[in-house]
Amino acid sequence: MLSISNLQASIGEKEILRGLNLEVNPGEVHAIMGPNGAGKSTLASVLAGREDYTVTGGSVEFDGKDLLDMAPEERAAEGIFLAFQYPVEIPGVSTTNFLKTALNEIRKYRGQDPLDAVQFLKLMKEKMKLVNIDQSLLSRSLNEGFSGGEKKRNEIFQMAMLEPKLAILDETDSGLDIDALRIVADGVNQLRSPERATIVVTHYQRLLDYIVPDYVHVLYKGRIVKSGPKELALELEEKGYDWIKAEAAV
Ligand code: ADP
Ligand code: MG
Ligand code: MG
Repeated sequence: MLSISNLQASIGEKEILRGLNLEVNPGEVHAIMGPNGAGKSTLASVLAGREDYTVTGGSVEFDGKDLLDMAPEERAAEGIFLAFQYPVEIPGVSTTNFLKTALNEIRKYRGQDPLDAVQFLKLMKEKMKLVNIDQSLLSRSLNEGFSGGEKKRNEIFQMAMLEPKLAILDETDSGLDIDALRIVADGVNQLRSPERATIVVTHYQRLLDYIVPDYVHVLYKGRIVKSGPKELALELEEKGYDWIKAEAAV
């Protein structure tokens, strides 16, 4: 589904990703861990197509298409969801309206008719139940005055509504409490299916107690320097990253 090969990316003059390789198949959950400043958020941003990053080498294929060639909206329409893509506060625009627009833009790109009001409401109801979100949150201005947990729930709800093939979650927020972690984990687990894949970027081993990944990767100095089964996360928790750094330096 996703094939990243020798990816290199910079911000300004600064080289951040230095030859990153990663393969993700449908149905899989991959966790990306690594010390601060390793390039985890940069990877997520590059996959999202954020403009402040320059790809200087390598390739990214998504469902056989060149992802790096696509505008961010095209990436979304092809089925990539980035949790932080929509954390912005939009005064005067409710989650409901925002999602209706986003969903119908995606459908238009795919050559599908827009959902009418009845169909949209039906979908909303189904997904609200799935992620256990309250109607009142959805009619408020997007993210405005939301608590950390409410933002997370809203984000997961957006993901459920857009039904992505590949969801990428960058859990950078150090303020995530246990409830917020649970919301994210429950949402990801609800949406697990043989056709979908998830990449969870995190430095919390704790999150991986709830979202059990198929693979754990360690990103260090812009490369994936170690990959392993879920137990690797526990090993990292116990031993830190120094041994990885030592191995990577060899
Ligand atoms: P991580 O998410 O693994 O902590 P990041 O991808 O956020 O790492 O950052 C990787 C490196 O790029 C860090 O050294 C960081 O300081 C640098 N960096 C990130 N964003 C910017 C930016 N906008 N301008 C300059 N340097 C940046
Ligand atoms: Mg960081
Ligand atoms: Mg980060």
